[in-house]
Amino acid sequence: MAQFIKEKSRKISVVDNYDVVVVGGGVGGVAAALAAARNGAKTLLLERTYMLGGLGTAGLIAIYLPICDGNGRQVSFGIAEELLKLSVKHGTELAHPVRDHDAKPWLNDGYTLEDRKKSRYEVEYNANVFAILCEQLLIENGVKILYGATVTSATVKKDKITAVITESKSGRQAFVAKNFIDASGDADLALQAGAQTEEFKQGNVLAAWYFEHLKENYFLRFLGFADIPDKYKTKEQLENKGKRFKGLEADELSDMMVQSHATLLEDFLKKGGISKEHHLAQIATIPQIRMTRRIEGKVVLDDEPFKPYEDSVGLISNWRKAGPVFEVPYGSLISKNIKNLSACGRCISATDTMWELSRVIPCCAVTGEAVGTAAAMFEDFHSADVLALQERLKKNGVKIKYEELEPLA
Ligand SMILES: Cc1cc2nc3c(=O)[nH]c(=O)nc-3n(C[C@H](O)[C@H](O)[C@H](O)COP(=O)(O)OP(=O)(O)OC[C@H]3O[C@@H](n4cnc5c(N)ncnc54)[C@H](O)[C@@H]3O)c2cc1C
Repeated sequence: MAQFIKEKSRKISVVDNYDVVVVGGGVGGVAAALAAARNGAKTLLLERTYMLGGLGTAGLIAIYLPICDGNGRQVSFGIAEELLKLSVKHGTELAHPVRDHDAKPWLNDGYTLEDRKKSRYEVEYNANVFAILCEQLLIENGVKILYGATVTSATVKKDKITAVITESKSGRQAFVAKNFIDASGDADLALQAGAQTEEFKQGNVLAAWYFEHLKENYFLRFLGFADIPDKYKTKEQLENKGKRFKGLEADELSDMMVQSHATLLEDFLKKGGISKEHHLAQIATIPQIRMTRRIEGKVVLDDEPFKPYEDSVGLISNWRKAGPVFEVPYGSLISKNIKNLSACGRCISATDTMWELSRVIPCCAVTGEAVGTAAAMFEDFHSADVLALQERLKKNGVKIKYEELEPLA
C-alpha cells in the first residue's frame, strides 16, 4: 500500500523580482536568457547543475548540428549562428571522427556556394570551453545566473505563473517574474504550473557517449545513436525495439545512468584499458536522454517542409537530410493555457517525427532566441504583437521566412 507523509506548509522568502525567469541553462536556455537580456529584460537563469550547456556540455553532446540546408544555404541565423561560432572560438581538437566534411567553407572566406554545397555548416566543439564561454557571454549581457537551483514548483494565479520555487543550498526560495521560459528540456516547469503537456511514448534508446583519448586523438564515442520514429519502423524493427527509457522518473533515470556507465566502461576496457596512450577522458554528468515531455502549444509543429506560418519566428533545417527547411511558428513555443509560459529547446510543441528534428542544438538556439525576445517585449506570451516580434527578430539578424533565404542557384 502506498505510504504518504504530510509536509508542514511554510512561508518561502521571495529573493527578487525579474522581468524574465528562464528555467534550465542548456543551449535553449542560454539563447533565451541572452535574447531576453539583450532586449532589455531583467533576466534570471536558474540551473540545477553548476555549468551551462545542458546536454550540449554536461551531457557531452558536443556536436552543433547544421544551421544550413545541405544545399549550400545558411538557414538559421542570429543567436544560433553566434553560439555555433562561440563554441569553436578557441579552436577544437576534434576533426569530425565520423564525418567526412567540416565547416571550413562556412567559417572562412574564399569559398563558393559550390564548396558549401559539399559540406554542412556544423561543428564539433570542446564541451568544457563552450560551457565557460556561454557563462561569460550571459554575465557580460547582464543575465543573473543561479547555479545549484532546481525549480521544484510554481505558484499560479488564474492563468499565469506568479513565482517559481527552487531548492538549493539556501533551502527553498521563490523568484517572481512577469514571464517564464521553460528550458528544462523536460517541460518540468510546464508540468509544475499545470500547463498541458505531452509525453514521448516511444521512449529513448540507451546512450553512453563518452570522450576518449587515444594516442594523439581525443574523440567522442557515440554509443547509442538516434532512434528512428516508430512510424517509420518495419514490423521486425518494432518487434526488436529493445529497452526504452522515458526519462521522467528519478528511479528510471538513475538506472539508465548506471547502465550507461557500465556500457561505456566495457567499451573502453575492450580497447585495452588505461595506459599512457589511452584515457577515459570524460563521462556525462547528466542523463543522455533525447525526448521526454513537451508543452502542448497553441500550434503543434509538424515535419512538412516549407510550410508557411504567418507567425514564423525562425528557420530550422533537417539534420538528417539535405533540402528541407521549416518555419517555426510562434504558436508552437507558447503554452496553450498558461499565458506567461513559453518553452524552447527540446520541449517545444512538435509531433513525434518533428521532435526528432527540432530537439537538436541549433533548433534549441533558434527557439530560445524567439521566446527570450518575446518575453522581454510583452506583458505575456498570449498578448504578443507577433508582427512587432518578427520585426525585432529580423532587426537582430534572424531570418524568419523561407523567402528570405538566398535563392537556390
Ligand atoms: C544521446 C544524444 C545524442 C544527441 N546528439 C546530438 C547531436 O549530435 N547534435 C545535436 O545538435 N543535438 C544532439 N542531441 C540533442 C541535443 O543535445 C539536445 O536536444 C539539446 O542539447 C537540448 O537542449 P535544451 O537546452 O533544450 O535542453 P538540455 O540540454 O536538456 O538543458 C536543460 C537544462 O535544464 C536544466 N534543468 C532541468 N530541469 C531543471 C529544473 N527543474 N530546474 C533547474 N534546471 C533544470 C538541466 O540541468 C539542463 O542544464 C542529442 C541528444 C542525446 C541525448
